[in-house]
Amino acid sequence: MRPIQMVDTGTQYRKIKEEVDSAVLSVMESSAFINGKAVQEFSANLAAYQQVKHCIPCANGTDALQIAMMALGLQPGDEVITPSFTYIATTEVIALLRLTPVFVEVDPKTFCMDPASLEKAITSRTKAIVPVHLYGHPAPMEEILAIAEKHGIYVIEDDAQAIGARYRFSDGSWKKTGSMGHIGATSFYPSKNLGAFGDGGALFTNDDVLAAEMKMIANHGQSRQYYHDRVGCNSRLDSIQAAILDIKLKHLDEYNAARRAAAAYYERAFAGQSKITTPTCAAYGEHVYHQYTILLEGVDREGLRAYLAEHKIPSMIYYPVPGHKQKMFESFGTAEQVMPVTDGLTTRVLSLPIHTELDEEQLAFITGKILSYINQTSL
Ligand SMILES: *Cc1c(COP(=O)(O)O)cnc(C)c1O
Repeated sequence: MRPIQMVDTGTQYRKIKEEVDSAVLSVMESSAFINGKAVQEFSANLAAYQQVKHCIPCANGTDALQIAMMALGLQPGDEVITPSFTYIATTEVIALLRLTPVFVEVDPKTFCMDPASLEKAITSRTKAIVPVHLYGHPAPMEEILAIAEKHGIYVIEDDAQAIGARYRFSDGSWKKTGSMGHIGATSFYPSKNLGAFGDGGALFTNDDVLAAEMKMIANHGQSRQYYHDRVGCNSRLDSIQAAILDIKLKHLDEYNAARRAAAAYYERAFAGQSKITTPTCAAYGEHVYHQYTILLEGVDREGLRAYLAEHKIPSMIYYPVPGHKQKMFESFGTAEQVMPVTDGLTTRVLSLPIHTELDEEQLAFITGKILSYINQTSL
């Protein structure tokens, strides 16, 4: 049996090695390392995949979120609503831009923003909402977009964990996550569903004005060479990364299908176990399982993790500390907020290995060990 990893990018690479190696070599031969043809081609292909008018590549997913908030002209003190149960990058950029993060609850089944909690958090200072398609599950976008429209608020989708996932509107139309808000932001961090061999990120929009603004911000606020109209930053996707991503983009649907197959195996193996709640996928969506996160009930989580580690099975807790309790937000006084769903999830979630290369032998081993621990049989 191959060693079990949370993510196995090595095995995935070896399957497309020739194509990737020759693409990287050709960028090296071309010397067009920055904003070369590979970057333009990949951006165009990704825009077509996402069915959006504009794709603006940048250096990483965190920058993408920051550039989105800068492009919307948000001002210090403006409130930005986001789930507390997310990766820190979502919320950190809000504070970095001197905006005010406002934390809301998630749905305990989908782990995504709870529209009722969102609606309650809106004030006259609310300027943007950042729903997160957490673990690869689409947030309830139709409800979120309706609330945003009613109050005249921008929506920035954090699509870092869900590229390739789809959302079905009540009229039956499907849209890709990252393509529904005013702006979508994603990440190509190596372990993400579309992972580079280093850092990378991208922004999506159908709005020509926002697209031009984001392109300008990502390039030192430059409108034409050496003319800088606004304060921006330096956030680029390398040509080498773009060349690799362009190859992997062709496999993205197949990669996400492999993740779904692994999830289906887990689902079958844990069926009927009262101590394990497996992730659900809402009827409106298509899950791409960036993480496979179970909820434990009456199980010593650290004991289980230690037992799995003894058997060389890695596991992770995404995320042990919710945003509203992070020390970095101390000055906002959010730690006092009562968030029973979020706080409950942080004590019960356990993320299991999930990636495109898990085979049945590995899955049988992982699920077998988990079941013997939770039922305390033949430890
Ligand atoms: C990974 C991630 C980001 C940030 O992406 P980077 O490329 O690592 O900067 C933002 N939000 C979420 C939810 C993520 O998982």
